[in-house]
Amino acid sequence: MSSKLVVGNWKMHGAAQANQALLSALVAAVPDRVDVAVCVPYPYLAQAHGLLSGSPIALGAQNVSEYAQGAYTGEVGAAMLRDFDCRYVIVGHSERRTLCGESDATVARKAAAVLHAGMVPVVCIGETLAQREAGQVESVLNQQLDALASVLGADQLGALVVAYEPVWAIGTGRSATARQVQEALGLVRGWLRERVRNADAVRILYGGSVKAATAGELFSLPDADGGLIGGASLVAAEFLAICEAARDASQSGLIRE
Ligand code: PEP
Repeated sequence: MSSKLVVGNWKMHGAAQANQALLSALVAAVPDRVDVAVCVPYPYLAQAHGLLSGSPIALGAQNVSEYAQGAYTGEVGAAMLRDFDCRYVIVGHSERRTLCGESDATVARKAAAVLHAGMVPVVCIGETLAQREAGQVESVLNQQLDALASVLGADQLGALVVAYEPVWAIGTGRSATARQVQEALGLVRGWLRERVRNADAVRILYGGSVKAATAGELFSLPDADGGLIGGASLVAAEFLAICEAARDASQSGLIRE
């Protein structure tokens, strides 16, 4: 079993001095046998790149343009992120889908742009509370995943990281239960198995109010390969404890069904 992946999403948080303290604390104590990344706001990529250089913590971004370059004022292209040695780029976070009107098709094109530039898209999918209450979890996830398949070939689908993030659990302090998480991750795994040869090696993350206290149980689920962490990634001790929980969960060596 490969190591788990823990990705911190700072969202629109950070300041030069605070970043220095946070990243230095992470670099000093990041556990081994777990893959860790932090996705920082664009203006801090250079600072984070410098502070993480030589450390096992990978750098990532939170968004990218679907276009390679051109007259797109305010946008940032994938090759620019690559220049800062970004390894991961979050695409389709629910905040961008809701606040910036990103469609499933846009998200798929952004994932393609990230892959084309040699980085790994962390594609976020997930249902709203209304959709869950209407019994639509499976159809929503399928729709979001199918949009990826209409742009990406099987090999590209196999190179994604998929983050299941129920919208109602993001930033609310209300994590999905272990049962709800495994059900959704199992649906994603099943979708991948129908299309991708290495489906069991594709990393599927859970995100939504993960804390150190809940990470161990969630990351030990059969189809959980780690987590996408928002608020808790801004507190060094909490984020490090989540990384340790992921490391410990990798060692439990659960076999997928
Ligand atoms: C996120 O921003 O992707 C996220 C999961 O946030 P939080 O952990 O704060 O719910």
